[in-house]
Amino acid sequence: MSKLRIAYDRYEQERKRWFSNPMVPTYFSNQERRYVHPFQMYGNVWYVGDSWVCVHLIDTGNGLLLIDAGNCGATAMLVNAIWEAGFNPANVRWIILSHGHLDHIGGALFFRRMFGTKLYLGRPDAEDFQHHPEFSAIQDTGNLADELFVVDHAIDDKEHIDFGGMDFFFRLCPGHTAGVIATFFDVKGNEGVKRAGYYGGFGFNTLQKAYLDDIGDVKHAMRQTYLDSLRKVRDEKVELFLANHCINNDTLGRMERLQKDPSRNPFLDDKLWGEYLDFKRDELLKLMADPAQN
Ligand SMILES: [Zn+2]
Repeated sequence: MSKLRIAYDRYEQERKRWFSNPMVPTYFSNQERRYVHPFQMYGNVWYVGDSWVCVHLIDTGNGLLLIDAGNCGATAMLVNAIWEAGFNPANVRWIILSHGHLDHIGGALFFRRMFGTKLYLGRPDAEDFQHHPEFSAIQDTGNLADELFVVDHAIDDKEHIDFGGMDFFFRLCPGHTAGVIATFFDVKGNEGVKRAGYYGGFGFNTLQKAYLDDIGDVKHAMRQTYLDSLRKVRDEKVELFLANHCINNDTLGRMERLQKDPSRNPFLDDKLWGEYLDFKRDELLKLMADPAQN
């Protein structure tokens, strides 16, 4: 057999191994089926994510800011969505990463290398990229060219950062990962100035017994840390709740309602933030009370 054929067979084997991970067909292969036509949510906030992973674009007037960089393997889609929204991806000056998981950092290095975009991430996850790269799950992307990076700025708790003249206030909300950030900022639109709130990671996949035992958190302390984070930001004023994954605020359902009746913006809802954080608290308490999880 030729060396060429041996190399091909190895590639085929590696693909089979990758596809045998049940996450792959659902979340990582053929991501184009999840393309969402971008839309203006409110004021200068646009949705440029897909039907599973959110990406928000904010036109500060002095450069574009992205909240998250999409899934690994979905960068072409993200670039297309930015163009389709009427913006030039080369004007993305900053990316705030909600947390350091593979489904949110996908386009980060592309934007840095291509356009000089500056990358921001909560400090604990920025440090984990160096010391615990496995927490990012980048090993699951199926693409050996994907790599982690040193951020331009590690975000600390209670930090304010100015992006293009807009003030962003950050809280660290460890739980889903150690470096989940919440961020709050004002958005001007046709119904006045509204306070946007973003909670950067809600999933319980990293709070499961098997996961925590494996990484050495045998007392499952991260669950209480998560509850404390929810409590910390529960009473922030939020009138525009931005999701990390579409499931958090039924992004696509609200999009349809907005498109049917633009006079009533379903993304403006001052109860949703508190209701969703309380829902996650109650779900987490259930998980913590489950004997199979202890
Ligand atoms: Zn995550």
